[in-house]
Amino acid sequence: MSLRLSVVLVEDNVDDAMLLLRELKRGGYELTCERVETASEMKAALDRQHWDLILADYALPQFSAPHALEIALERGLDCPFIIVSGQIGEDAAIAAMKAGAHDYIMKNQLARLVPAIERELREAAGRRSRSVAEVALRASERQLRALFESALDAMAIFNDDRQFVSVNPAACTLLGLSNQELIGRSIVEFIESPCDLEQALSNFYAQSRATGELKILRSDGTMRDVEYSATANFIPGLHLSVLHDITERKQAEEQLLYNAFYDPLTGLPNKAWFLNCLGRSLRHAKRRANYLFAVLFLDLDRFGIVKYSFGHLVADRLLSATARRLGTCLGPKDTLARVGTDEFAILIDNIHQIADATAVADKIHKELTLPFEINGHEMFSTASIGVAVGSSNASASPSPPDEHGDRLWDYSATNTLNQPEDYLRAADTAMYHAKAMGGGRTALFEPDMHAGALAMLQLETDLRRALKREELQLYYQPIVKLSTGQISGFEALIRWRHPTRGLVCPGEFIPIAEGTGLIVPMGAWVLEEAARQLRQWHAQLPSGAIANSPLPWEDAPLSSASTLLTMSVNLAGVQFAHPGLLEHIDGILQQSGIPGETLKLEITETAIMAAAESATALLLQLKEQQIQLCIDDFGTGYSSLSRLQRLPIDTLKIDKSFVSRMSMESESLEIVRTCVDLAHNLGMDVVAEGVETPEQLAGLRALKCEYGQGYFFSKPLDAKAATALLASNPQW
Ligand code: C2E
Ligand code: MG
Ligand code: MG
Repeated sequence: MSLRLSVVLVEDNVDDAMLLLRELKRGGYELTCERVETASEMKAALDRQHWDLILADYALPQFSAPHALEIALERGLDCPFIIVSGQIGEDAAIAAMKAGAHDYIMKNQLARLVPAIERELREAAGRRSRSVAEVALRASERQLRALFESALDAMAIFNDDRQFVSVNPAACTLLGLSNQELIGRSIVEFIESPCDLEQALSNFYAQSRATGELKILRSDGTMRDVEYSATANFIPGLHLSVLHDITERKQAEEQLLYNAFYDPLTGLPNKAWFLNCLGRSLRHAKRRANYLFAVLFLDLDRFGIVKYSFGHLVADRLLSATARRLGTCLGPKDTLARVGTDEFAILIDNIHQIADATAVADKIHKELTLPFEINGHEMFSTASIGVAVGSSNASASPSPPDEHGDRLWDYSATNTLNQPEDYLRAADTAMYHAKAMGGGRTALFEPDMHAGALAMLQLETDLRRALKREELQLYYQPIVKLSTGQISGFEALIRWRHPTRGLVCPGEFIPIAEGTGLIVPMGAWVLEEAARQLRQWHAQLPSGAIANSPLPWEDAPLSSASTLLTMSVNLAGVQFAHPGLLEHIDGILQQSGIPGETLKLEITETAIMAAAESATALLLQLKEQQIQLCIDDFGTGYSSLSRLQRLPIDTLKIDKSFVSRMSMESESLEIVRTCVDLAHNLGMDVVAEGVETPEQLAGLRALKCEYGQGYFFSKPLDAKAATALLASNPQW
């Protein structure tokens, strides 16, 4: 196959030109040729088209090879330029070669022509492709530089001495230093305590690549998190690292993690975290012999009252303050978490005996007796604590009491507690027992408590229905004026006619009702029902059911409202603190038409003290309605006498525990005497609860106690029996 070749022939001699062309054809070329004799002809030829080859005679009448070469070079032509001459001297030939000619051939050696052309064409092609590659290389260098300079990620090149050799603007921003400041500095200065930098670097060189996360220490001392990828020896001795700042993402992740495992109010771990820790302890217990740990479940008593009386803000502060105080009772290895609104859980790991756990509980109770000062309010918050102990011992029954008298139940043997949740629930169940015993105390979990807890749960469900199904009923117990021996009023006491369990006493279900908030609608019903009954008695017994007269009640004067039969109604703490109580009582007074002074509200001292200042305002408002106020179970709580004095209380009701022991213990007699004196000094009258014997009655009369209530006079009676009792006008 013949090769195409376009040739400019600088030649004045036509024969010589023909000779050359024949030689080329013989070499297998298919030719396009133009013969020129002058510079202008050559320029015109070059303008016309692209040429593969220029063959030039050295000297022409009006032109010359060096001149032709000049023209070709001016135009940047890179095609082979070969001088073909009859008589070129060596000096001229060398000068021409230096000027850029590619070869020269004597006309009498034309056999060299084709091989020389072939070689020069090859070299020209090589030159052309080299220059294309060079251009491409320069372009890609520029591209890379632009990428390097404008990249959002930091890029840094460092050498074998770990010094920065080149950094891009993003790297300067990341590290907080200028280009000049960074070049030559060691990369190690900016890496925050990598676990083992030397090891990491030698791995990097060995594997040529490394990726991962790092903490970068900026020049201003702040820290950034980066994701990096590095290539070793991308040019021998130079290493490239690309760093992507992930500080914001990390912070967001940490926040998410925090939210998942921490309680924002107290800053304590939450239930999920606690269960995690508990799981770890459980695994330890399974592996190690004689390993003991304890879970304490703590619930604030009467937290609802605080919330209703002071609002959420104060309640939240109380929770935070409690959390801090709990922290002071614990060791550095104990875990404290907030697991419910007012519920905290504590994990005490690796204890020696149960007493170690109860000692912590005791410490907490003691700490909580100190008042909290929150927003200028002084408040107390006792807590009920349940304790469940986990161990690795495998005895199937409770162990014999240890030196502290503790028995260790092996829950795992009875298979009731396996999961972390089981332990938390067990401690919660025990806490419930502590609460049912009156709060402010600790109870240890025992396996049969579960049954109790289930029964309690059932009771709660039943209680919700009881209100709707009208299973609740009021009993009435007379309160006797001791100077006359006659009934002056009644106390309304709630009963529950349970469909299967029969009559249930309030001690069993009031704590549940308080705990679940059911007490609010239940208490509202009690108030309405008691007021309705009192109204009925007032109406049925037109004389006003007078019990204040030494005369039989039928003959008593009709006029004085102060002689009207009274009705005492118990108010639970939550109810007392519930907003809307005042409006509700107003409504009841209006609807029933009973005078305010015939309604007595009994509130325990604990409830009053827990509600603190806000209680005073409420009591004053109740007093404006002439409603009588009575402190129930006096002597069992922790009243501050100075506060008591400031409260508009009409009556102190001495707890039956003191009255019942009056005749046996002189100490109890003294307590009753003190209470009576105290009440009188504060301008209050006194009701003694739990009067069971004639001796107690005589004693109380001697102490000038105004009223008595107790089985000696009558047990609580249903409405019908109470009405009959009233009608019989008894006198003691
Ligand atoms: P409380 O208000 O101190 O009521 C007096 C309790 O003592 C009553 O028990 C009564 O039956 C009992 N009692 C009266 N006399 C004697 C006696 O001579 N000897 C003995 N051993 N006990 C006597 P009950 O009815 O079981 O009520 C227990 C508590 O339940 C009440 O104590 C009160 O705190 C609460 N409760 C009763 N009804 C209601 C109610 O409607 N609302 C609220 N919030 N609590 C109520
Ligand atoms: Mg009472
Ligand atoms: Mg009482």
